[in-house]
Amino acid sequence: MPSYDQNNIFAKILRGELPAHKVFENQKAFAFLDIMPRAPGHTLVLPKAPVRTILDIGPEDLADLMKATQTIARAAMIVFAADGLTIQQFNEPAGGQVVFHLHIHVIPRKNGVALKPPASFKEDPAVLADQARRLAAALKGV
Ligand code: AMP
Repeated sequence: MPSYDQNNIFAKILRGELPAHKVFENQKAFAFLDIMPRAPGHTLVLPKAPVRTILDIGPEDLADLMKATQTIARAAMIVFAADGLTIQQFNEPAGGQVVFHLHIHVIPRKNGVALKPPASFKEDPAVLADQARRLAAALKGV
């Protein structure tokens, strides 16, 4: 498999070289809103460790990533008044991965509302900023 590319777009976000609508950060994980959400509140949760796919991450970092994912999922249910959640994670192009820093999609769902197709809709930055503010507020101190 290819090695980790230090210049992938999420590595640049983690280094603060590119902007993101950040919602959560701890020692091991970082989360921000997807700019092409498949539903309102679509969040990406990343390990800070430089890993390409789930095949590369160490067990402790993976456990920390999943804990952060659950924390964000719980907050997203409340903030987005969700009826459920879809959690997705893609590996390598064959698996649907487009950005090659491991990440987990947390997508709030409403009963009867289908997901938008991937990369079909770019959200208004002002909407993302408001959503990020509300989700970050719900996550503050957890
Ligand atoms: P995938 O690698 O298939 O799991 O998908 C990558 C995801 O990253 C897609 O849902 C994109 O909409 C999202 N994405 C790409 N660039 C950015 C960015 N600069 N900020 C936030 N989300 C992004």
